[in-house]
Amino acid sequence: MQKTKAAARKPENEGAPAVTAPTAATRTAPRATPKAVAKAPAKKGAKAAKRPGAARAAGAKTPPEPVSALIAPRDMTPEEIRAFLLDLARTWPDAKTELHYTSTFSLLVAVVLSAQATDASVNRVTPALFAAAPTPQAMVALGDEKVGELIRTIGLWRAKAKNVVELSRQLVAEHGGQVPSTRDALEKLAGVGRKTANVVLNVAFDQPTVPVDTHVFRLANRSGLGRGKTVAAVEAALERRIPPDMKRDSHHWMILHGRYVCKARKPECWRCAASGPCLFPAKTPAPRAKPARTIR
Ligand code: SF4
Repeated sequence: MQKTKAAARKPENEGAPAVTAPTAATRTAPRATPKAVAKAPAKKGAKAAKRPGAARAAGAKTPPEPVSALIAPRDMTPEEIRAFLLDLARTWPDAKTELHYTSTFSLLVAVVLSAQATDASVNRVTPALFAAAPTPQAMVALGDEKVGELIRTIGLWRAKAKNVVELSRQLVAEHGGQVPSTRDALEKLAGVGRKTANVVLNVAFDQPTVPVDTHVFRLANRSGLGRGKTVAAVEAALERRIPPDMKRDSHHWMILHGRYVCKARKPECWRCAASGPCLFPAKTPAPRAKPARTIR
């Protein structure tokens, strides 16, 4: 099969800035001042998400986070970093990826499909996909069209279907049907960028990589764990600053903490176990209890 242009395209949200649906509570989030702002990295492929409802309909994390957010005024010290990460480790003792997979190949496919889509939306389509094509050979035999039919509820499904079939073809042709364990080889696969390669290296091959997704980018900047204006800068800072013995697991702690506690529009600092060492200058206070209703 010829390698198509679309199939060779990398996922459009590799390392994109945070996106989280707003809630009634988040509408009162503190506004960022221009001085204390870190501009989030530009998000490729944001055009589609600009259409009202388009991203939600596609299963994407909607809508995009504002382009700026308050960040820590300084970097954490090594002592603060260790304390912060220990607090995250206690909060998420069984942290692991929320994507469902049964093999290194299915993990790779699930991570590719998760670009600009929620893990939950990916988990809804992968059981049928992996039942139909559990191996790269079977995925190639299934073909773009049938793969597309099975994943069409997730964002960018056409391009992702082409990528999944093409990367499967590459695995068969160049790697004996196995997923390679080096960054160079992974990044040559269709639809695999640096973040996807980092996730596969970390989860499948136990390598101490630090993938930076929307949640990690936000958490690292707010807390002072690893500040930077771009995904690459944050990844470099985290690589440099996280102690080697905590590096591999910190990936899962940071993602879960960013996803469920240090949320995009309004971090829930009042219930954050790492609020002590965190340097975020505008920590959210606990919501006031509603006054008891008087019964007459
Ligand atoms: S204290 Fe607030 S800003 Fe800091 S990590 Fe926790 S939730 Fe995020």
